[in-house]
Amino acid sequence: MKTAECLNHLEPYLFAQIDKKRDALKAQGVDVISLGIGDPDQPTPAHIVEAMEKAIRKPENHQYPDYAGSKAYREACASYMDKRFGVKLNPDTEILALIGSKEGIAHLHTAFVNPGDYVLVPSIGYPVYSGGATLQSAHSYFMPVLEENGFLADFDSIPEDVLAKAKIMFLGYPNNPTGACADEAYFDKAIEFCLEHDILLAHDNAYVDICYDGYKAPSILERPQAKKCCIEFFSLSKSYNMTGWRIAFAAGNVEAIQALGTVKNNLDSGQFTAIQEAAIAALTGPQDCVQEMCKLYQHRRDLVVDALRTIGLDCKAPKATIYVWTKVPEDETSESFATKLLEQAHVIVTPGNGYGPDGEGYIRISLTTPDERLLEAVRRIKELV
Ligand SMILES: *Cc1c(COP(=O)(O)O)cnc(C)c1O
Repeated sequence: MKTAECLNHLEPYLFAQIDKKRDALKAQGVDVISLGIGDPDQPTPAHIVEAMEKAIRKPENHQYPDYAGSKAYREACASYMDKRFGVKLNPDTEILALIGSKEGIAHLHTAFVNPGDYVLVPSIGYPVYSGGATLQSAHSYFMPVLEENGFLADFDSIPEDVLAKAKIMFLGYPNNPTGACADEAYFDKAIEFCLEHDILLAHDNAYVDICYDGYKAPSILERPQAKKCCIEFFSLSKSYNMTGWRIAFAAGNVEAIQALGTVKNNLDSGQFTAIQEAAIAALTGPQDCVQEMCKLYQHRRDLVVDALRTIGLDCKAPKATIYVWTKVPEDETSESFATKLLEQAHVIVTPGNGYGPDGEGYIRISLTTPDERLLEAVRRIKELV
């Protein structure tokens, strides 16, 4: 049996390797604390679970869902976008339900990218942006992401021949893994650039609700020209502790939404309507659960930043996201330092090189570990000095 050629070009999935290492140590009886994966540890808020309990009992929800998402869910998404950002969207043509935003991001390539085309991806970023290109037998061009530029991807240096074949540019701020945030001027510049070169700008906004110190992250769709070339991905995963539910939505440019919908019509039949009903409860219900989560993560962020500074690492406290991103010591690589933390402190962190070429020399620490375990990890890291 011979698998498709593109499968040979995929990078091994980053977290699969980390899970393997963790399991091997655990099998030896070692008490390993994982600060590796970004998966909220707190349960989904009760009012959302209760909405699901009701929804699951309705026989009409047991049939095939509306492929694009139920009208009620798309309307709830539109009302969230209006209330939160003042962005007006037509729920019939500018919103599409997704089975998690990873699904939508991956399938966007199918809708826009031909074999041999280019996809512009940040040189530090969510692995699905380039993985999706590989699965289409397309190339990824890594836009430099450097600390001295505030980890904002630099699209001014892309060669002309790449631009001529570029179909999608992926950006995502607040950013996983760097924690960087982008301002309006950067978004406007990116939009102008994509309009000039006829490129779809895909903005991944998974962390829009997880902000600290009074910061409020924007939607790229707030920008005046955005609807001409932007599709934005929102996910309930991080905002409402719903990673396991697989529910998200895409919003923005009509043609992009329609093309992605066409791909999905042929590949899946939408998300369980009961889950969409629970998501409506999340988007339209009380939002204090989100504020509580942010408070909790902000406290954890401060603990981690303090521990890293204690061992001599100069790390910045992020304004958003559930990650602390920091340079490793001078004489270490991402891999060697992550291995040292694993072997000497029994703490798992993610080596930065797994997020792309410019991630080398960094590690990512996730804040999704219960407080007492995080405190223990912090204690062990401090002991390393
Ligand atoms: C967590 C995350 C997502 C959300 O994925 P879902 O499939 O909606 O759970 C999307 N993009 C980034 C960068 C993420 O970290």
